[in-house]
Amino acid sequence: MSRVCVIGAGLGGLALAIRLQARGIACTLIEAQDRPGGWARGFEAEGFTFDTGPAALGEPALWRELWSDAGRELGDDVELLPIAPLCRFHWPDGAQFDLVADDAALLPEIARIAPGDLAGYEDFASYTAEVQAEGFRHRLAAGAGWRPMAAAIPGLLRLQAFRSLHGRVSGFVRSERLRQVLASSPLVTGGNPFTVSAIAAAAHRREREVGLWYPRGGFSALTRAMAELFEALGGELRLGDAVRRIHLLGNRVSAVECASGWHQRVEALAIAADLMHAYRDLLDGQAPGPAVAQGLARRRWSPSVFTVHFALAGSWPGLAHRTLMFGPRFKALLDDIFGFGVLPRDAMIWLSHPSVTDPSLAPPGKSVFQAVMPVAHLGHLPIDWAAVGPRIAARILDEIGRRFIPDIHDRILFCRSATPRDHAATLNLWQGSAYGLEPLPAAALWLQPATRDARLGNLFRVGAGIRPGAGIAAVLTSASLAARQLGSELGG
Ligand SMILES: Cc1cc2nc3c(=O)[nH]c(=O)nc-3n(C[C@H](O)[C@H](O)[C@H](O)COP(=O)(O)OP(=O)(O)OC[C@H]3O[C@@H](n4cnc5c(N)ncnc54)[C@H](O)[C@@H]3O)c2cc1C
Repeated sequence: MSRVCVIGAGLGGLALAIRLQARGIACTLIEAQDRPGGWARGFEAEGFTFDTGPAALGEPALWRELWSDAGRELGDDVELLPIAPLCRFHWPDGAQFDLVADDAALLPEIARIAPGDLAGYEDFASYTAEVQAEGFRHRLAAGAGWRPMAAAIPGLLRLQAFRSLHGRVSGFVRSERLRQVLASSPLVTGGNPFTVSAIAAAAHRREREVGLWYPRGGFSALTRAMAELFEALGGELRLGDAVRRIHLLGNRVSAVECASGWHQRVEALAIAADLMHAYRDLLDGQAPGPAVAQGLARRRWSPSVFTVHFALAGSWPGLAHRTLMFGPRFKALLDDIFGFGVLPRDAMIWLSHPSVTDPSLAPPGKSVFQAVMPVAHLGHLPIDWAAVGPRIAARILDEIGRRFIPDIHDRILFCRSATPRDHAATLNLWQGSAYGLEPLPAAALWLQPATRDARLGNLFRVGAGIRPGAGIAAVLTSASLAARQLGSELGG
């Protein structure tokens, strides 16, 4: 029997597979790893539950909609816990700033670090509302299709939203620290605040409006619930069996073949894995695979990450769920990471501390953490990570110790790090790029690859490398759009 296959059970592949199955389209979801989730798969060790990527999700309505379209209530399967503050920003001299939803708490916080910028912030907040109204709404509603985006262009031009986010923020506030805070949101999804367009300012507003959330039990519990929902709808989940080859017949995909030898004829196929891997490796030698891969190789790819997962004896109720630890340099550091491809001595570190939101992740009196340090991808920085990795892990822990937990090394109960090479090998990521193609100035939205291949009529694409881009909400949006397109292609 022919069916639809989806390659890759990250958040994008899982969301698409659920939507297809809910439409009555028989679907097989194929995942190379032995557990679903991709970057969000997490792991358990020595009584602790760790996340392996995202630390927070926004746009909870997208999750409720996914579940209700599958005939269930999200709340029956997944509990979303609010994160507060939304993010803490911390500088090497000990200064910090809490981004919170409530104006009554936020404005005094701004007055504290940037007393002269209160009026400028309020203008920026109004600006984000306008950008959202003009652009972000279209992006979420339509997955940034040409027509709704074209309709948004005049308004975005009027708002100068095609200037860089940092440049636009700097027009509103003078404090360098507040500029860093307000321009940092694209970093979560691999964007450089100095090149991403100011359309990204809408994220600041959305976070404050709808909050950030954490799934109880960690992201692994969320991805497990997605996999169970998919299987309950009758879907087939193949874990631990990487796709090795996509077979074509003329200008259509005819079958997929896995490492185990398992193969399946398909009516349609969706790629929810790294785009370069799919076109270069899985379509190797078959048009349009090599030509698309060549085009992708010329594009700018997002940075990679070095990650450290660790568990500590002790509890830190005052250490936020998510802290962005700035280094002593901001623009110059980002230039090193995004442009020059050097491994600087200073660093920017995302520290997540999910057990402060969900204590069930660790036994009583213990805590779990994830530290994520953005680094240049392997194309820019092809160093011997196996040799360098332990030194970087120690440096990250030292810096967390220096700022927050002085006896950190005596408290470590578990520690595991992963280098860009590890991530590249585990998830088949081109150059270890953690977030797919880098969002570029005006290209951020509609020049990203579309959810449908232009030449192969029954090939669809979702996930971080696909319009509207990386980030959980964006990935769910591409899945929703691809499910509609695939459904109308198959009459489902
Ligand atoms: C460190 C980090 C932190 C982040 N934090 C946040 C955050 O806090 N909030 C937020 O909104 N976003 C965050 N993001 C972004 C977000 O997590 C990702 O954009 C999203 O999870 C990507 O999902 P995906 O399904 O597109 O890809 P992936 O998660 O990469 O999944 C792709 C899947 O395809 C599988 N695969 C690859 N090749 C094959 C093959 N040949 N056969 C079968 N399977 C294959 C892989 O094993 C993988 O499971 C973060 C990203 C990173 C890297």
